[in-house]
Amino acid sequence: MGYIMLGAPGAGKGTQAMALSKEFHIPHISTGDIFRMHIQQQTDLGKKAKEYMDQGLLVPDELVVDLIKDRLAQEDCKEGFILDGFPRTIVQAEALDEVLQELNIPLKTVINVEVPDEKIITRMAGRRVCNHCGGTYHMKYNPPKKEGICDQCQSSLIQRKDDQEETVQKRLQVYHDQTKPLIQYYKDKKILLTVDGTKSVETVTKNMIEALGESA
Ligand code: ADP
Ligand code: AMP
Repeated sequence: MGYIMLGAPGAGKGTQAMALSKEFHIPHISTGDIFRMHIQQQTDLGKKAKEYMDQGLLVPDELVVDLIKDRLAQEDCKEGFILDGFPRTIVQAEALDEVLQELNIPLKTVINVEVPDEKIITRMAGRRVCNHCGGTYHMKYNPPKKEGICDQCQSSLIQRKDDQEETVQKRLQVYHDQTKPLIQYYKDKKILLTVDGTKSVETVTKNMIEALGESA
């Protein structure tokens, strides 16, 4: 079964996708994490993606769609997957429909994590991430056990370059213009589940898993 985490940048998609991945034993696939890995490894794709990411813009659809096609065709996705940060445009959503049809994997639920814009800036300012395993923390709301160190793999935590306030404002605008229409797209397909993302991390996880159980 396929799941998608939808929501504004900083809504908590990655945080909740990780929890769901542990609960359902299916892979968490973050296109942002994949791009950041390519940037770290200085691949051609990484160099191209960085130009857009640093400005808070979306990477062109064709690059992202090719990447996700390859990823979903891998063996570990056969039983299901959780997409985080993909799709982000209607063109990507339509391409995903085609890919899943070819792979014969149904899309079960699209989880829309709802958080108002005012809360996003503080979330992004305090976000710290692990470049090694993708762990995500917040200095105040979800701190690691040891300051600056990832709980899961003990690597150092960093602040993402695109979490500066100016870039976050741009990313929010891009979300409203290009990604928000996906809410209606999946509402029409009757697979949208909206959760209140303003509650604590644990409460959002609990509410989401309960609601998914009810819709099973
Ligand atoms: P996204 O993947 O949607 O960009 P993240 O999962 O990275 O968002 O979360 C953004 C920031 O907000 C992180 O610092 C994370 O620790 C924090 N965060 C996530 N969920 C919550 C929550 N329910 N309450 C408070 N902070 C949260
Ligand atoms: P994220 O880690 O999901 O916040 O993504 C970080 C950045 O990666 C975004 O601001 C985009 O520049 C790029 N990106 C990630 N996923 C996509 C996508 N599906 N389509 C276009 N760009 C993406």
